[in-house]
Amino acid sequence: MAVELYSFKEIEKIRSACRVVVEVLEAVARAIKPGISTYELDLIAREETKKRGAKPAFLNYKPPFSKEKFPASLCVSVNEAVVHGLPKKECIIKEGDIVSLDFGAHVEGYAGDSALTIAVGEVSKEKELLMRATREALAEAVKVCIPGNWVSDIVDAIYRVAKKYGVYPLKNLGGHGIGRKVHEEPFIPNHPATLAQEKKDYKLRQGMVVALEPMLSLGTEEIAHDGDQWTVITADKSPAAHYEYVVAITKQGPLVLTEFKNG
Ligand code: MG
Ligand code: MG
Repeated sequence: MAVELYSFKEIEKIRSACRVVVEVLEAVARAIKPGISTYELDLIAREETKKRGAKPAFLNYKPPFSKEKFPASLCVSVNEAVVHGLPKKECIIKEGDIVSLDFGAHVEGYAGDSALTIAVGEVSKEKELLMRATREALAEAVKVCIPGNWVSDIVDAIYRVAKKYGVYPLKNLGGHGIGRKVHEEPFIPNHPATLAQEKKDYKLRQGMVVALEPMLSLGTEEIAHDGDQWTVITADKSPAAHYEYVVAITKQGPLVLTEFKNG
């Protein structure tokens, strides 16, 4: 499938969907405290989405790698969980956890998608460093989103920051184009080895809209599955962090469509 290009008007529509996504994520983030279950966080996401007249993008979504539809609205990935964390009644948040929230929504035919990692109370120095590295990787990835650059420039930006901090980008995962659908071409790997496997690079063009989502871990580049069909974990069970912004590629440079109040 070809890469979609969007007009300024359409980019504004994607921005509206992203605004809802950010508001829902901020509401869920405020509710995070020791003792709450990841299932309860999903209920909050559903409620906040409904209030805004939007549709959750991940509920009943069937990705190509799965035989089943995702049964929740929100992905909640705690500590060693990287992405696609399935909310569960028995998964209780505790002090010292890092919790990645990933949420997507459809508004008037356009999609938004974003993620952030929340520290619950006091977390270890290593986890703090990992979160900082992942935020910096995202910021550096955003900077290279200019027409004429390549997807490989995004991969390099993430890799460079990971190396600088001595943490690891995870293989076989990454960002994607976004617009009318939540997942569009191109796939934007987080690791150069995954890019090499894809055997495909894309030139960034004006009108492309991409979701950049570095996922970094403290101990490994390899991923594994935790047995619930969905939750991706680090192979060595070391903590992972994940942030995601949607960025439109414009003549004037990168335009971030997911604006959080608290950075
Ligand atoms: Mg995404
Ligand atoms: Mg996402």
